[in-house]
Amino acid sequence: MAATERAALFTEAACDHNNAKSAKARKAGCPKPKPGGTSGGCTFDGAMITLVPIADSAHIVHGPIACAGNSWDGRGSLSSGPTLFRHGFTTDMTENDVVLGGEQRLFDTICEVVERYAPPAAFVYSTCVTAMIGDDLEAVCAAAAERTGVPVIPVEAPGFAGNKNLGNKIAGQALLDHVIGTVEPDDVTDLDVNLIGEFNIAGELWDVVPLLTRLGIRLRACISGDARYRDIAAAHRAKATMVVCSRALLGLARGLEERYGIPWFEGSFYGVSAMGDSLRGFARLLGDDDLSRRTEELIAVEEAAVETALAPYRARLTGRKAVLYTGGVKSWSIVSALQDLGIEVVGSGITKSSDGDVDKIRELLGDAKMISEGSPRELLRVAEETGADILVAGGRNQYTAIKGRLPFLDINQERHIPYAGYTGMVEFARRLDMAIGSPVWEQVRRPAPWDLVGAH
Ligand code: SF4
Repeated sequence: MAATERAALFTEAACDHNNAKSAKARKAGCPKPKPGGTSGGCTFDGAMITLVPIADSAHIVHGPIACAGNSWDGRGSLSSGPTLFRHGFTTDMTENDVVLGGEQRLFDTICEVVERYAPPAAFVYSTCVTAMIGDDLEAVCAAAAERTGVPVIPVEAPGFAGNKNLGNKIAGQALLDHVIGTVEPDDVTDLDVNLIGEFNIAGELWDVVPLLTRLGIRLRACISGDARYRDIAAAHRAKATMVVCSRALLGLARGLEERYGIPWFEGSFYGVSAMGDSLRGFARLLGDDDLSRRTEELIAVEEAAVETALAPYRARLTGRKAVLYTGGVKSWSIVSALQDLGIEVVGSGITKSSDGDVDKIRELLGDAKMISEGSPRELLRVAEETGADILVAGGRNQYTAIKGRLPFLDINQERHIPYAGYTGMVEFARRLDMAIGSPVWEQVRRPAPWDLVGAH
């Protein structure tokens, strides 16, 4: 990817926040990477996160083995079929390759992987080392595609280019430039849709697709949870796209609209009201009156059922306070799910959120605390100051919460519990209730017996 193409990714025309800036500020683009910006995941990591859930394809990392090792299997994206995406293919660069160049090694690796595993496509990722020594990823991928007869997609997202968000954007651009539009499906319907930014964490997609199916909506391509290469290659024939909680992939949605005229909207599957709004979003964009009527009927039935299921939890959860510390869009999409349960969100992390995400948080939370520094000490300080009943955050904060004797719920991508859709919402409430209501808190907060000795 040329430097000018990469620079263009910093100016997203579909981003409201970007559009609201003055001409001068817009010219300066989105925030550029700063030193240390890769510590929460580098650009390469972001590209892998976006594309690896394409389950039937080979994903080959061109670089030292640690790049593949660091990012391998770090997320709970599930597949209903092929498991090739869970193989960690890498060229495993050595010192010799750094001195002599790694192009031949990459070419041989791609050919061997295709010969042994017969994938429908191979994605090849550059890393810091191979970008710095100047290996021509695009040329090697083109040569390997010609030799093997299988599409080989270069993903030029070396870690040093910036943060994880940039990697998401580059991955989206790679799909637009090399994949989408290359397969013509013969089974297109008027109700075909795409999802962008849904990664099927813990199988969440499987709680959403049945609802779409009941409305006669067919998922043409999911980018990229439980995805198949050919489905994504045919994504240009969908009639509407939903961007699921992923501002970094807005450019992909905009690209689909510009190139293929597919309208899109942003939504979330977390929370009762957000789920209903997402189904309505599809009905609106597909412009089918009968579908709109059926959508309202389905929402009414599902909401009535979920209200009954949530009632006992809501009785215990209403009025509770939560501190939410998670990355990117989850910092606002989970807010809506918590508010649906009557929980007050008293603080939300913004460390890894884009400016657009921060605007959304402010819109939803008003005066709640924006947490821009996520050290254990700071999180516990905010929890204490706000009287929070629970910390809802990523797995690595679990021990912070436990040390602070504060209930905790894991909300990040490594988790194994699905929270999307109506079914997921009930599970979310059940888990929150179990965490807050556990008898262990009362015990650990009691003074230790030896501390009471002197008190009598
Ligand atoms: S791509 Fe670069 S920053 Fe990312 S894991 Fe590899 S060496 Fe580290």
